[in-house]
Amino acid sequence: MSDTLNTQLCDAVDAGFDRQIAFLSELTAHPSTRGNEQSAQDFMAAELSARGYALDRWQIDVADIQHLPGFSPVLGTYEDAVNVVGTHRSATQKGRSLILNGHIDVVPAGPLDMWDTPPFKPRVKDGWLYGRGGGDMKAGLASNLFALDALRACGLAPAADVFYQSVVEEECTGNGALACLARGYQADAALIPEPFSEHLVTAQLGVIWFQVHLKGRPTHVAYAGSGANAIEAAFPLIKALHDMEHRWNDIEHRHAEYAHMDHALNLNVGKFEGGDWTSSVPAWSTFDVRMAIFPGQSIKAAKEEIEKTILEAASANDFLRNAPPEIVYHGFHAEGYALSDDSSAMARQAISTLEAAHSTATGETLEREAITATTDARFFGLYADTPTLVYGPKAEAIHGFNERVDLESMRRVTKATALFIAQWCGTEDI
Ligand code: ZN
Repeated sequence: MSDTLNTQLCDAVDAGFDRQIAFLSELTAHPSTRGNEQSAQDFMAAELSARGYALDRWQIDVADIQHLPGFSPVLGTYEDAVNVVGTHRSATQKGRSLILNGHIDVVPAGPLDMWDTPPFKPRVKDGWLYGRGGGDMKAGLASNLFALDALRACGLAPAADVFYQSVVEEECTGNGALACLARGYQADAALIPEPFSEHLVTAQLGVIWFQVHLKGRPTHVAYAGSGANAIEAAFPLIKALHDMEHRWNDIEHRHAEYAHMDHALNLNVGKFEGGDWTSSVPAWSTFDVRMAIFPGQSIKAAKEEIEKTILEAASANDFLRNAPPEIVYHGFHAEGYALSDDSSAMARQAISTLEAAHSTATGETLEREAITATTDARFFGLYADTPTLVYGPKAEAIHGFNERVDLESMRRVTKATALFIAQWCGTEDI
């Protein structure tokens, strides 16, 4: 690709950057937590249509995906889960096709008084945009879209099909990305600009979510000895799960990408409910757990060990021995995925193309990182044979308070993405 075109593309990103920030602000103002993504998806659909992309918008149907590898069980229905895809069809089909994926769903804001300013009233200060979802990952959705815009501003279109995906459900199951696969979207590579500081993600962990339900025996606290406290009974089970977590992190179990990390796999008790009254021995409790697994680690075997761990710990409790905990799976059944394990020519080419694009756009070498979270990359990488590059801007406090994204980093990623698209897909005149 010529230096002139590189320069033109970067200039086009600069020229459109104020509009890109306005787009990101408006998108971040939509409070697209799970089940509330509609208005954000309406906005995305309108932006894609206005640019002339062929729009596909559909409600996820569990029946279409539940038999597929990578499906995660869900509680409730998918009445509100709508995916949006905009397609560019190349006239010449000279190049390699591409999926540009991002998720529209954001995690809950948490207590509002922990935020300096309201999470869904984005503001820009000192080069950062603040707001829930601004970093994770609406800035990525913006960079994908405005990278395509930069080509157009140069009178060019990708010389291969490009599928721009705005999916739901990334933060709890990944079933939005899975629904894109089930709908037939395939390409030679995928790019997901999750906010990992402009690093190329070489590996990601798998994640399992489960719920443990305990039932005790209610009694007045004055006779607590005859009751069974369903909240306190949970403590030894949680301790046993943490012991399991430490075993799984042992060096001999680690995937090569995580060999240097003492504690890549984290177990988190993320929710706890139980009891009805301060002076009643609680008759029930429920806690929600997130546990990570390494790439290559079997979900089935992991679940078996989780169940064994809980039931063994319960058997040490006089009450739980006769009223064993119930384990319910809902949400993530996510395998790990390592791009670095993909030895295909397509994967090598995708990585080297991104390396070149990043270094031209930023003047820096592309760093690599194995992350201790999951992303939708696993669907394309594991179940569709599509090398998937996770590469996005720098953000801070994602899932925390005062989440923010570095706007200059978004600019660099947008430039690198424009260069990547032009090189990967090739270009044709509009
Ligand atoms: Zn994300």
